[in-house]
Amino acid sequence: MPDSGARLLEGAPIAAEIRQAVAEDVARYTRDHGRAPTLAVVIVGKDAPSTVYLEQILRSCARVGIDARFAEIEGEATEATVTAQIRALNEDPTVDGVIVQMPLPPSIRLRAVIDAIDPAKDIDGIHPLNAGLLRLGYDGFLPATAHAAVEILRRSGVEIEGTNAVVIGRSAVVGMPAAFLLVREDATVTVCHSRTTDLAAHVREADIVVVAAGHPGLVTGDMLKPGAVVVDVGINVVDGKLVGDVDFDSARRVASAITPVPGGVGPLTNALLLSHLVRAAEAQAGSPRRDPPAPPPEPVTRGVR
Ligand code: NAP
Repeated sequence: MPDSGARLLEGAPIAAEIRQAVAEDVARYTRDHGRAPTLAVVIVGKDAPSTVYLEQILRSCARVGIDARFAEIEGEATEATVTAQIRALNEDPTVDGVIVQMPLPPSIRLRAVIDAIDPAKDIDGIHPLNAGLLRLGYDGFLPATAHAAVEILRRSGVEIEGTNAVVIGRSAVVGMPAAFLLVREDATVTVCHSRTTDLAAHVREADIVVVAAGHPGLVTGDMLKPGAVVVDVGINVVDGKLVGDVDFDSARRVASAITPVPGGVGPLTNALLLSHLVRAAEAQAGSPRRDPPAPPPEPVTRGVR
């Protein structure tokens, strides 16, 4: 690898392509159904840092013609009021997708909230039914960030089949679904976490490294196999600057390709969420019951049993 560094895997151009396709689907849906596909974002606290991120989602929706709105809890956000709000949105035939502001206040159990979401409207793939469909190789809704981490590889022409991949992080929303998706793409996958002994030894064997730990500087260039492809999912603020989990400067000297932070996985996450929303709208319009999209008769993966 020349010292000039790795190829940059930038999310913005791929996200623009996805948004273009979404805008066309939205226009067709709106023509056919007399209303735009609609997203509701359940807000549990106006001052949370994630409000900025959610406002960004609303703006992206507006750009492609999706109708999106904040669903605010009347009164105090408790487990009962949040789940009641979600159930009302589940029952609302003019709402096609529901996402909930995270993190939740400590008094509200995540599992109670997740379970309340109609799987057919769960466009960020957090409901156990969608997680199970992914595990079994069926086509449910994928968590958008994990989807983005693998989609950026696919759309950048990175060969996944037959590679050794290491995923750092085993969360239900990022690490594990990314690992299952890589297995679906026929990679051989190792999942590392905070109790992994000798993380560097695992990373050194990897052709593809997906890092989703929330730990700046966790992966450095000297840990990488020369020519490895690095997907940095991490989002951290250090000295007022947005950085990933990978020490970019040292890693790009060893890797063959790397996603920048910001500008890598992030933009794609947002665009894929919009595409999930349109798919949810189309699936619900095609079926009088609001079941999740029907799985194909056979698992779509080869490797997963
Ligand atoms: P999370 O729930 O906190 O999970 C972090 C995972 O990393 C856990 O499995 C943890 O292991 C593991 N980990 C932490 N420190 C480690 C270490 N030193 N060595 C090895 N593994 C370590 O976080 P998350 O929700 O999955 O998010 C991960 C990162 O992605 C965060 O930086 C988050 O901000 C970012 N993110 C990005 C996007 C995007 O669009 N780009 C979207 C969502 C999240 P244990 O299981 O053992 O605790």
